[in-house]
Amino acid sequence: MSNFLFPRPLDPTPRQAREPVEGSCAECGAEHLMRYPVLSEGGWYMVVKCQSCLASHSREKWTRLGFVSLLTDQLEDGVEMHA
Ligand SMILES: [Zn+2]
Repeated sequence: MSNFLFPRPLDPTPRQAREPVEGSCAECGAEHLMRYPVLSEGGWYMVVKCQSCLASHSREKWTRLGFVSLLTDQLEDGVEMHA
């Protein structure tokens, strides 16, 4: 389903801004941790992964639609929409 909403980029190596993270990998010891958003089954997550062995170091819920920002998402919580 998510593939329809977020088609795979045509560029086989899309440039995703990755933010270097201090520290070393608990799995392989490489000091090559990066933070970047990923889309998975449960939606968008901001993850920190080792770029050498791809071990996940942290994973937290990101914005609902990733890079897409809806006006409704910017409204205060608690606003109910009634037709
Ligand atoms: Zn690693």
